[in-house]
Amino acid sequence: MKVGIIRCQQTEHLCAGTKDLRCAAEGKGAFEALGPCEVVGLVSCGGCPGKNAVSRAGILVKAGAEAIALASCITLGLPMDFPCPHREKILGCIRSRLGDSVTVLDHTHEASGHAPKA
Ligand code: SF4
Repeated sequence: MKVGIIRCQQTEHLCAGTKDLRCAAEGKGAFEALGPCEVVGLVSCGGCPGKNAVSRAGILVKAGAEAIALASCITLGLPMDFPCPHREKILGCIRSRLGDSVTVLDHTHEASGHAPKA
């Protein structure tokens, strides 16, 4: 399955998204139900309050994404233990915009779930 990932712009200086990409490729973490996935794009929300996440989800779908995942930095607050205060709104708006034909995952991995290989 092809997926697009949306991440928090505030954590870009802390995280390269390595665990998100690896979990998607290996079908681990939140991607278990989808199986191994090809990531067609990894974009940020565009900055607070995250309004651009909705249009960027659309861009990812146009690029071929059959599922969209909000990265764990947004919904679980990784790696800073600071979940996005707008996460429910962002999630709801994306689901509303894309409808039932596109699966929307609310995270990518747990904090200790799938450590990147060295
Ligand atoms: S809106 Fe949320 S996800 Fe986007 S930069 Fe701000 S805190 Fe991060």
